[in-house]
Amino acid sequence: MASIELSAKLPSKHKISFVDLKTQQQALRLKLDIAIAKVLDHGLYILGPEVAELEATLAQFCGVKHVISCANGTDALILGLMAQGCLTQQDAIFVPTFTFSATAEAIVLSGGTPVFIDVLPDTFNMDPASLEQGIQLTKKLGYKPRGIIPVDLFGQPANYQMIETLARKNQLWVMADGAQSFGASYKGKRVGNIGKLATTSFFPVKPLGCYGDGGAVFTNDDEISQIIKSLRVHGQGTHKYDNVRIGLNSRLDTLQAAILLEKLKIFEKEIKQRNDIATRYNNGLKDVVRVPCIMEDTNSVWAQYTIRLPSFIQRTQIVDELHKLGIPTMIYYVTPLHLQTAYRHYPRASESGLVVSEQLSQEVLSLPMHPYLDPDQQDYIIHAIKELCQI
Ligand SMILES: *Cc1c(COP(=O)(O)O)cnc(C)c1O
Repeated sequence: MASIELSAKLPSKHKISFVDLKTQQQALRLKLDIAIAKVLDHGLYILGPEVAELEATLAQFCGVKHVISCANGTDALILGLMAQGCLTQQDAIFVPTFTFSATAEAIVLSGGTPVFIDVLPDTFNMDPASLEQGIQLTKKLGYKPRGIIPVDLFGQPANYQMIETLARKNQLWVMADGAQSFGASYKGKRVGNIGKLATTSFFPVKPLGCYGDGGAVFTNDDEISQIIKSLRVHGQGTHKYDNVRIGLNSRLDTLQAAILLEKLKIFEKEIKQRNDIATRYNNGLKDVVRVPCIMEDTNSVWAQYTIRLPSFIQRTQIVDELHKLGIPTMIYYVTPLHLQTAYRHYPRASESGLVVSEQLSQEVLSLPMHPYLDPDQQDYIIHAIKELCQI
């Protein structure tokens, strides 16, 4: 592939960011300064009033009864697992292999065994057929299937209808890893109100991000909510120094809650902008690459816009060429978890490999995606990919 001479020129206004947090900050700066100053004035840095206010606002936003904020999205998964009782290595928890490592890491840290499941080639989310295969196989291997952690990859909710049917049939719980999908919806329900529990992350580049680490657990179950509130403060009982269980130190800082409250006010608008950008990409790119597929009755928050390159294309070359043209890209994910050093000894749904995930890891490419990408920048990206992917 020869270096290309682009007919369109890079819009000079500003350089293209993979995720642009600066423009959003400029728009909110005054309000953020006031919100931060308020916390500095009252000085309640841990579990201050903004934390409770954020939890109530998030609960209302997604229509769930309880929101328990915590230190990060990985802890949210760990807290959700701990709240459902102790796990042993005989306890099998099913996770997609095509995800960020934290989903499986939380299971191992909680004492259980992750079982890796393949994903669907069009949505990149957990494949119910592979899940069924995984459940049967782990039973044969002598494990006790306990729960499923579907991941809403790149912002699109997984196929919960089929997953929950399998869960009921096998008496498993479902905890949704919504680290990438907060704000999305599935069959009229918002992420947070799907599954027995759901979790999310407020890591800065997630669709709703703070200025540091943060996370939350969502549930309609009163008892689980009480347990998680105790777990995030070292397993605290009714008094501060009364410990009724082993817990963690995992709270969301008051400052981060104050920041999130301001960001939440523009979140709906940003979700709409992300969807408009995805539509523009889809229309511009659908004839040259495989564009993302969103299921019926499902809305994505487009944490990532991820295409699949045609097999005759050398991905490393495309990445280099785009980089030279000032277009940043990322590969989510280069190696599925079942092939990684830390995870390859855990069970997987099929001994012959998780072929869809293995193939996707070779073909995927994530493009710049954030609410402040302007149409000129987008057209330039579309144009560059079209020229690079022509036969
Ligand atoms: C980001 C992410 C996490 C972890 O969130 P942190 O806040 O970084 O701990 C977990 N699962 C998925 C799918 C993620 O994308």
